[in-house]
Amino acid sequence: MATERRDRAVRAAIEQELLTEEHPVAALLDTDGVRASAAALRDAFAAVTGAPVLHAFAVKAGPLVPVLRLLYAEGLGAEVASPGELALARAAGMPPERIVLDSPAKTPAELAGALALGVAVNADNPQELARLDALVAGAPTRSPIGLRVNPQIGGGTIDALSTATPTSKFGVALRDRGARDQVVRAFLDRPWLTRLHTHTGSQGVPLSLLATGVREVYELAEEINAATVRATGRRQVDTLDIGGGLPVNFTSDEETPTFAAYARLLAEQAPGLFDGRYGLVTEFGRSLLAKHGTLLARVEYTKTSGARPIAVTHAGVQVATRTVYDPDSWPLRIAAYDAEGRPKDGPPVDQDVAGPACFAGDLLAVQRPLPPLEPGDVVAALDTGAYYFTAHYAYNSLPRPGVHAYTGTAGGARRLVTLRPPQQLPEIVAEAGGAHRDALLER
Ligand SMILES: *Cc1c(COP(=O)(O)O)cnc(C)c1O
Repeated sequence: MATERRDRAVRAAIEQELLTEEHPVAALLDTDGVRASAAALRDAFAAVTGAPVLHAFAVKAGPLVPVLRLLYAEGLGAEVASPGELALARAAGMPPERIVLDSPAKTPAELAGALALGVAVNADNPQELARLDALVAGAPTRSPIGLRVNPQIGGGTIDALSTATPTSKFGVALRDRGARDQVVRAFLDRPWLTRLHTHTGSQGVPLSLLATGVREVYELAEEINAATVRATGRRQVDTLDIGGGLPVNFTSDEETPTFAAYARLLAEQAPGLFDGRYGLVTEFGRSLLAKHGTLLARVEYTKTSGARPIAVTHAGVQVATRTVYDPDSWPLRIAAYDAEGRPKDGPPVDQDVAGPACFAGDLLAVQRPLPPLEPGDVVAALDTGAYYFTAHYAYNSLPRPGVHAYTGTAGGARRLVTLRPPQQLPEIVAEAGGAHRDALLER
């Protein structure tokens, strides 16, 4: 059970001195949980189709090389959206045929590099297609190439993560005047354009809207293929990349909605998608990792302000940026442990859980009922395996925390393995131009 595994890992992290005065923040990842989610994803699609499916993990959700390595070993690939993310996938040993490059701002050099390597590329817009025309004419490539479209079906509850709104910055806006015909034309003009890509959004987008986005893209593929069959006898679109975006439940340990429920919904909404005529690519991120990460921080002080109890901890905006800046959209569950890592009990008291950064809004939770916290206690922000401690925000020059993984053993002692060591002060100085100290003094 995930909760029990987590409790034992918190205890072990403290015993193994991974959470100390020197390193008052540490992150934990549940290896068994990650494996189980990868298996659930594979099984969900295998249950509805015999077609080949590449599950490309969205690297931005968890940009750690050992995590990518584990997911590769679990049969997954990687969706990358920057030269850095591509380098991480390569460092993890992923072969080009497991990698998909998306990004709305690829440079000519990035495109040329991707085509030379043979990774799949999804173009975002007509200008990018024109660049690809020149590159494809100049050198042969093994890269499958697709076009991202925005079905403009609307957003979810979080604007910043809704990618299929009428004015989203991503892909070709399919319902704009003339756009659909231009997309069909783009395929007729380019025999190497063989994929369609869409990603309707992330957290806050309901399953039904995700499925509608996929259905719209399936219908567009059918329309393009009817046109290419008339022109050349060939069904040119052979693969549909349906993006990621499965939302995550941040309110309990329950993993819902499931990959299986989503795959079944897709099979209902667009049965033709799974009948073997199309290969598939998925790009899930948050739903593979979020439930398996725990962020630990020591309580430094406790105080009251305006009669409200506040626990001042070391985890705030640097590791929970979205929660701090947009707390209504991103509430996190908080668990309390004592200094030895034992779950705390005691009658809950409403208290704020504050971070270390120097602005008033740096709060992990406001008026949260928790056992009374004391200095030396440990707070745990749950469900933080995706987009939290791996998406560091360098405010106040606070260091990136170490990330450590635990793997279940049959009740025995558990060893935590380090995936990323905590950032050291010399690294912070170096990243702040430490080697260029006198640059402004030179005349
Ligand atoms: C962010 C992103 C994903 C992953 O989204 P999740 O909500 O983490 O599943 C997939 N595809 C693209 C193009 C993205 O930008």
